[in-house]
This record gives sequence, structure tokens and C-alpha cells, in this order.
Amino acid sequence: RTVYLNGEFIAEQDAKVSVFDRGFLFADAVYEVSAVLNGRLLDNAAHLARLSRSCQALNLRLPCQPEDIEALQNRLIAENSLQEGAIYLQISRGNSGDRDFDFPGESVEPTFLMFTQARPLIDHPKSKTGIRMVSVEDIRWQRRDIKTVGLLAPCLAKEYAHRHDADDALLVENGLITEASSSNAWIVDAEGTLVTRPLSTHILHGITRQALLALAKQHDIRLEERPFTLEEAMNAREVFISSATTFIWPVISLNGKVIGGGVPGPVTGKLREIYVAEAMRATAG
Ligand code: PLP
Repeated sequence: RTVYLNGEFIAEQDAKVSVFDRGFLFADAVYEVSAVLNGRLLDNAAHLARLSRSCQALNLRLPCQPEDIEALQNRLIAENSLQEGAIYLQISRGNSGDRDFDFPGESVEPTFLMFTQARPLIDHPKSKTGIRMVSVEDIRWQRRDIKTVGLLAPCLAKEYAHRHDADDALLVENGLITEASSSNAWIVDAEGTLVTRPLSTHILHGITRQALLALAKQHDIRLEERPFTLEEAMNAREVFISSATTFIWPVISLNGKVIGGGVPGPVTGKLREIYVAEAMRATAG
């Protein structure tokens, strides 16, 4: 694989970052993951806008203009002949030459890296079978709207899920579901209304979430942005998660309780179909 590091397109084994990089020592870094379909970036302007917001919130300098970042992303996609998968991008506050909590001066350049990951988006088996989930307490920090690389809590949540015979975890705070460990959470409630938690600092403002809300409105699917409890999710008609790299994955059980008879539900299926059609259209040649 060819990766990108600080202005260079190089073989992955040649890409080296200092042990004093603040991304490594303090998780002082932000990231983005954009889907690639038909060799083209999906919804990338929204991802780059969120990247700018993450950087602003942390007073972190963007290494270059968003349009220049997109050109670099496209070159890396071409270098790796990536048709379907994702491109990961990370910007850290750079290497200040020692371990020091204080921010370094302006002269320290951010560390900017990218790599590609080939994976099926359209025909992923889990999009058809659905996944089993468990709930865990949301122990993350209070600014989940900033997409930082401080991801130990979601790693622990996924590890807990795997140890409990599940694929992934939903995160719960004060009895309410915030989101999933690396995706936004949705239910179809007892009245058949599509529900997802409103934007706040408690959740990541998912780009896929935003696109799905717009598509649901266009297709007259009844929807409500409101918090919902774990109990409501366990008794929901349907549950699903959304992210750039899953699009939509149905949830067929939660804490061992079967959801929707153990098969992906109709609203979930319809929304995924609408989203996939739109993604194919947006990335067609
Ligand atoms: N929530 C969390 C905690 C995430 O890590 C992610 C994506 O990785 C999402 C939601 C979904 O965001 P997006 O749709 O922009 O990929």
C-alpha cells in the first residue's frame, strides 16, 4: 500500500512518525474517514467541513486548504487503485521534540497522514444478516462532537461486545442511548417513527446520519430527533446503526433480546436501499 505522510506518497513500511508526536503521546489529533465508492469520494465536502470544525475546536492548524486535501485524497485513491472502501485521514499537533503538555509554538508543523482501506460497502455480509449488540456505559469524554483519535473507550466497548457474543456495543448514558461505539444509533419506535438522538456535544455529528435524515424527509418517512432509552431500543420494532463505512447495518438483537424477529426490518431495508442508490448516483462516472 502507498500511504501519504507530510507531503509524500510513500510505501507504508517507509512511513515513520516520531515517538514525540503529540498524536501518539496525548491523542492530540483529529481524524476523518470518508467512504470511497466507484473509485470516488462520497460526501467528502461534509467530512472536510467537520474536519475543519474539529480542528477549530482544538485550535489545531489545518495543514492545507480543504480543496488541496481533497486533491491529495484523490491522488492516494488513484495510487492504490481503490474502488470500494475508505480513506482515513489524521492530523496531529505534530512533534514538539519532547513530552510536554503545553502546546508547541506555531513553528511546529502538524503531522498529516492518510491511508486507504479496501472493504465492501455495498455487499457487506453484515448489511444483510444484521448484527448483535450489547449495551455498555458511555465512559467517553464530554466533547464527542470533536472527532479525536482518543478512542480507547470505544475499543473497550467493542472488546466487551466480542467477549459477550456480540458484534458491537451501544453506549448508554443516564439510561439514554448516545450512539454506538463507532456509528450513530437509530430505532423505529412502537408507533413506526424513525428516531435518532439530536445533535449535541454528547454524540459525533455523523455525516451519514445527516444524509439519512435528509433522505428520510424526501421520502416522507416519519421521523423524530429525540433521545431514546435503552429500554425503548430493546422494545423497538427496528434498530440500526449508521456510519461512512457501514452505511446502514441492521441490529437483530440487543443484550440477547431479539429485535424485529431476528431479521432486518422494512424501514431499515428501505432506508439502506435509498442511501445506496443515492451513493451510486453520486459516484457514477
Ligand atoms: N459516532 C461515532 C462515535 C463514530 O465513530 C462514527 C464514525 O466513525 C459515527 C458516529 C458515524 O459518523 P459518520 O457517519 O460521519 O461516519
